[in-house]
Parts: sequence; C-alpha cells; structure tokens
Amino acid sequence: MKDHYTNCMFINNKNQKTTGVPINNIDTIRGCPNNCESCYANKLSSITIRDFTKPILVEKFTGRVHEDLTYRIGNFGDPAINWAHTEKMIKKYKIKNFFVVTKLQSIKGFSGYCKNLQVSVDPMNELHLIRTLQNVETLLNNFDVNIVLRIRSSDTNNFLINLFQYEAVLFANNHNLPVLETRVRFKDKKAYDKYDLIAESYEWTRSFLRPKNNLRFLHDVEQHYVCDEAGNKCAGCLNCLKLLEPAVSTVTLHQGSQRAIINSAA
Ligand code: SF4
Repeated sequence: MKDHYTNCMFINNKNQKTTGVPINNIDTIRGCPNNCESCYANKLSSITIRDFTKPILVEKFTGRVHEDLTYRIGNFGDPAINWAHTEKMIKKYKIKNFFVVTKLQSIKGFSGYCKNLQVSVDPMNELHLIRTLQNVETLLNNFDVNIVLRIRSSDTNNFLINLFQYEAVLFANNHNLPVLETRVRFKDKKAYDKYDLIAESYEWTRSFLRPKNNLRFLHDVEQHYVCDEAGNKCAGCLNCLKLLEPAVSTVTLHQGSQRAIINSAA
C-alpha cells in the first residue's frame, strides 16, 4: 500500500458506476484536505492509500481519452485545489466534453475555461457552505458558467443542518440554478446519533448507511434533480448529461440515451 496517490492515473473506460452511459470519471488532482463528513472518496481510497488528505497533482493519464465520452473531473480529489493545473491537464489531453465536480473552496486561478460546474454544497459544514456559496456568487458575476448545485442532503431532525439545507435551496432558487440533490451515504451507523438522522429513511447496505431509493430530502426546490434517485447508478439517471450546457449535452445526451435504452433492453 502507498502513502499517497501517484501523479499518474490510468483512464479506466469501464467504470462500474457509469456503465451504459458515455460518462467517464477522471481526476486532475487526487487526494483532498477538505475532510468532508462521510467522504465517499476517502473511504474508497483507504483500500489503496494510507493518507487521503494530501492532494497530488496528476501529471499523466495512461490509456486513451475518448472523444465521444463526457469526462466527469473531480472524483477522488477536488479540481479547485489548483485550477491552473486542472485547466492545463484538460488542454494537454484535448478533453472536449467535460464537467467539473468541486466544493469550490477556492477560485484562485479560475479562468472561465471550465464552464460546466457541479458545485457541492455541504449543509453539514457551515464554513464550507458559506465559502462555496460566496465563490459561486463571484463566478456567476464574473464568468459565463453553467453551474448546478449538488446539495449534500440528509433526512434529519437537526435544526442547523435543516436550516443550512434550506439556505442552500433558497440560494439556488434566487440564482435560478438547478439543484442536483446528492443524498449523503454515511460511512458508519454512528451517523444516526451524530446527525440525528430519521431512521426510517435509511438502510445499511453494501457497507454504507444509504438513503432509501426514491426519497427526496430537500423541499421547495424550483429546479429539482436527484443523483441516482432510483438506485440504478448513472444508466438509470443521466442527470449529469441533462444538466450540461446545451452545446455539450446535445451530443452526449443523444449517445447516452441510446446506450441506456440498449442497456435496459438487454
Ligand atoms: S446525477 Fe445521475 S448521471 Fe450524474 S453521477 Fe449521479 S447518478 Fe450518475
């Protein structure tokens, strides 16, 4: 086992989660110091590395970048840790169709080149939430960007979490932004007490405390989408593709729909 990620990443074109849709997951930075509650990437990375908190810049992709895929950048690390490097890698490997998933704790070096952003908003961390929303506001005021808010939701009796969830929804509505509700999968059962979760909404399966399918925890959202609402992974969802800016989505959604139809018919 290594201490940290290396600066080389293999592009795996057979990603399990995205099987059946033309989305592939890559990273320009791997590892993250944000320490988010129940970080999925941190938990999964513990199989291969000891310390997830040290970000490593990916300098080299091995394997082929496919022109007909849309790349989701920001899975095991946050591309915003170094925007200049993220942009450099996208250009170096001539990645045409892509979107970036980020908690947007920094906009230093952001040039506007990354137009499609899925911004993770975290009601379980007030400081992160405030900085994220301030940075979203700055980008909207200064760049031509297509922003979707991924609000990390939970079903809870905790007053503050509910308040911050509601603030995030109001922000989205006021700025006319779509919300891609991302229901948090907790890494252990202590979350029931720690976050005062509503037990009936969760079940322990496949090593995570997961929200039951088809439940929505955010309310009054004007443009409401849910990440993997039915629990069938990306092929049963396609929301990432639907929410791309029109120039990209016309191509990728068409391909994605075809593959998803082929998949469901199989
Ligand atoms: S929103 Fe849908 S397509 Fe995007 S990551 Fe979630 S499940 Fe996959």
